[in-house]
Amino acid sequence: MIHRVLNRAKDIAFTSWLSNFWMAKNKGTILSFLYHRVDHRSNNDFLTKGYSPVISPENLYLELNTLKNLGVNFLTFDKIGEYKLSGNNGVGIIVCFDDCFKDNYEQGFEVLEALNIKATFFQTTALVDSNTLIWEHALYWFVRDSSSDKHLKHVAENYYRDNRPILEKGRNFSGMDWVQFLVHQAPLEDAEALVQILMNDGDNRLEQAEIAKNIYPTLKHLKKAFASGHELGTHGHQHLRRTGVSAERFEEDLKTSKDLFESWGFPGKSYSYPFNSYLKGDENISKKYFEMVATVDSKPITRNTPMSQLPRFTWPGNSPNQFRMRRWLLTGGI
Ligand SMILES: [Zn+2]
Repeated sequence: MIHRVLNRAKDIAFTSWLSNFWMAKNKGTILSFLYHRVDHRSNNDFLTKGYSPVISPENLYLELNTLKNLGVNFLTFDKIGEYKLSGNNGVGIIVCFDDCFKDNYEQGFEVLEALNIKATFFQTTALVDSNTLIWEHALYWFVRDSSSDKHLKHVAENYYRDNRPILEKGRNFSGMDWVQFLVHQAPLEDAEALVQILMNDGDNRLEQAEIAKNIYPTLKHLKKAFASGHELGTHGHQHLRRTGVSAERFEEDLKTSKDLFESWGFPGKSYSYPFNSYLKGDENISKKYFEMVATVDSKPITRNTPMSQLPRFTWPGNSPNQFRMRRWLLTGGI
């Protein structure tokens, strides 16, 4: 309780007249704000439950308009070098999206256009024009309601008993616990094997094809954003968690994504790590394909920040009041 009161008191320091003080503290740096889906929470509930923080178009407009009124300089990742060289001593802001569903190119795009702000779209390339859900989204879909949750629990328990009996700790997992374990901890091959087994039911395949069509973007969406001056970066091909795959598989995924970008006519100079998951030395792999690499390490980008390690702040969720919102926008924290 005391903590909450103190935290609330800190919010009050972000009244609009104090904004100039906070803005002065950010001078000469770039803050990059990371959003994911732009939609109303009730849509595609199976994704919302699983992982993806969703901002409504109205709130995205409110946040970006607040920044705009503070007189910041909006830029994109591919312009960082140029911006640094220009010696601009104002506050730089990069708005970006990871994953990039259809909603980013529809509602998200409309908000950006209304405010005339250019952003970076970090696209998971396997989503584009896909008629299947990628492994991660398929897993969330496989626990979309209580009966499917039970089914996945059963399949996962059998799989682990037969293949990895050493992983005893899964024994009391619900289906969703299994999914969280598969997405965030297990080797990717386990997740892929489970999806394969569950997909053997032909109805799942058909239903997922329908969902993929509804939630994933088309190449046309990407081309429209690119033609409007937004940057298209890649977020890898299959949204792999680096700690779940070998260096070879990681590199192959980057290369697939980069090759697709080239075939689509996008320079694709920037990349962001899925799950913010990377290992020491990965920059030696990623720099073969990309000039700018983004993390989610919650720091401003300064003149000395290496291009292979550009930190971003991830959206903390809806703010309960305008002071909290300003605090997020002015410091990247809450
Ligand atoms: Zn992601």
